[in-house]
Amino acid sequence: MKILCVGRNYSEHAKELGNAVPENPVIFSKPDTALLKNNEAFYLPSFSSDVHHEVELVIKINKVGKKIQEKFAHNYFSEIGLGIDFTARDVQSELKSKGLPWELAKAFDGSAPIGNFINIENMDLKNIDFSLQKNGQVVQKGNTAQMIFSFEKIVSFVSQYFTLKVGDLIYTGTPAGVSQVNIGDKLEGYIGNELMLTCDVK
Ligand code: ZN
Repeated sequence: MKILCVGRNYSEHAKELGNAVPENPVIFSKPDTALLKNNEAFYLPSFSSDVHHEVELVIKINKVGKKIQEKFAHNYFSEIGLGIDFTARDVQSELKSKGLPWELAKAFDGSAPIGNFINIENMDLKNIDFSLQKNGQVVQKGNTAQMIFSFEKIVSFVSQYFTLKVGDLIYTGTPAGVSQVNIGDKLEGYIGNELMLTCDVK
């Protein structure tokens, strides 16, 4: 399976990092070794002193597809979950300044905690609240109404380049409020009022 991620899908987050709002989704990927399942702890990597949390809604692909038209894209996912796109911001800033790819800052071991999935059948995809708490305080809060690119648009766009397979995950971007995590922090992610993910930072 593969993990695809969208950068800059919430304009307030693009602004907080000083990035322009993009015309097309910014896409990067993570290997399966980035996944942390079953609320496993995250160990801060030694190569960074500024790892940020980015809470994101994650869709799970349930059908093989390529070059999917946007109007059919909803047929390719039926479950949504919550994940964290851990980012070594200091490493990313250096790579960005040199015009280099982001993998070392984004795709390292444990950089993709993933929680439970829920069926989207009775959900309004354009109005999903999600949030992240750090040590009991809300630090990030988003709603899919604020997305620059919809789930359907993202599925259609990435499938022009990558064949999507059953079980592939797409992290769909983070809202504003990213901040550094430190040893001892407890992260809890919610869709609506439902706890979907917990992650202790060690
Ligand atoms: Zn992200």
